[in-house]
Amino acid sequence: MSTAVWQQRWDAVMARNYGTPPLVLVSGSGCVVRDVEGRDYLDLLAGIAVNVLGHAHPAVVAAVSEQVARIAHTSNLYVNERAVELAERLVGILGVPDTRVFLCNDGTTANEAAIKTVLRAQPGRRRFVAAEHSFHGRSLGALALTGKEAARAPFGPYGIEVTHIPYGDADALAGAVDETVAAVVLEPTLGEAGVVPPPDGYLKAARAACDNAGALLVLDEIQSGIGRTGAWFAHQREGIVADMVTLAKGLGGGLPIGACLATGRAAEALQKGDHGSTFGGNPVACAAALAVLDTIEKDNLLDHVTALGDTWAAQLAKPGVGVRGRGLWLALVVDDGLAPAIEKAARDAGFLVNATGPDAVRLAPPLVLTAAEATAFADALPSILDAAADAVSVGGVKTDVAAGGSRP
Ligand SMILES: *Cc1c(COP(=O)(O)O)cnc(C)c1O
Repeated sequence: MSTAVWQQRWDAVMARNYGTPPLVLVSGSGCVVRDVEGRDYLDLLAGIAVNVLGHAHPAVVAAVSEQVARIAHTSNLYVNERAVELAERLVGILGVPDTRVFLCNDGTTANEAAIKTVLRAQPGRRRFVAAEHSFHGRSLGALALTGKEAARAPFGPYGIEVTHIPYGDADALAGAVDETVAAVVLEPTLGEAGVVPPPDGYLKAARAACDNAGALLVLDEIQSGIGRTGAWFAHQREGIVADMVTLAKGLGGGLPIGACLATGRAAEALQKGDHGSTFGGNPVACAAALAVLDTIEKDNLLDHVTALGDTWAAQLAKPGVGVRGRGLWLALVVDDGLAPAIEKAARDAGFLVNATGPDAVRLAPPLVLTAAEATAFADALPSILDAAADAVSVGGVKTDVAAGGSRP
């Protein structure tokens, strides 16, 4: 069946929240995905920073297959071995003793767990501080934190009070954090807003502001974590310790899983009966996550991400293109309005990338991207830029521009 037929069937039955996707993906191997027409694409988005080991990685396939054949689900009424192993492993890579782990199913549920943990740890305080243009998820608590007015406005009012401050401005942050604030919630780099890193020292300043006011610091590493920037967690580069860290996206290597890690007094805040999830810590998802963490370590992928990220960023800086970000998490910064046309021209040329807005194209490939694959895109970029500029000048992508923006 052709792409067009699948698109018609999608349109007829799926909720309208995503619009109509441009491709039907049916299989993948390494960093290459194949569509229903048999056409291959180099996947430089990895399902929005998810498929960190690429597609059909043998370690993930083996771990998931073995676990599903043994026991696929237990609920949290019983111990499952993989959940305990994964929690131990996460505490190890975070490197903060006395950390406790709540396992859940995706990013938004990791942030919901963080919000409830904060409310338990900070009796009498209900106010949160978060950043403008941040993204923390779509369920109501996580959406209250999200700094995107268009996403938030239709669904308020919310049960928690959130003050949004400009991202990267340490003085604005310090000014907003007083004794009424329960927690500050930040991405170490804005992801959905287009891979926007803060100035050096920002997270340190956030840590100090929280300490001064008795507020907790929650870092949303859902997109930035699990090796994406060349460190296990992006915030480790600044040498700070967060009270809580949330994870999802890359953790399961393509299987749905999230985690909320709490340290110190936050670790002791949730009490029996306070929270739960039927599927949270599902053995199959945990087996996949363990395979991901083991492979990143065994194959030295953190060093690979750091080195390849540096060379790739240099290769991608072309006339008319700025590059920001770190590791294998970059944005091409282009003329306003051009990004959606670049996404489409790249797809036509066999590369999957993502316009997060009118002027930024996100690259978040599998961490196993090879130097040859990275170079292939850099080499193709000038002609992709030309095609995009032509398309915009003839008005061919006007509707794409209007619909532009990311959509997890
Ligand atoms: C994607 C994302 C989320 C939400 O994750 P879902 O799995 O889509 O619920 C939250 N925070 C950040 C920083 C994200 O990138």
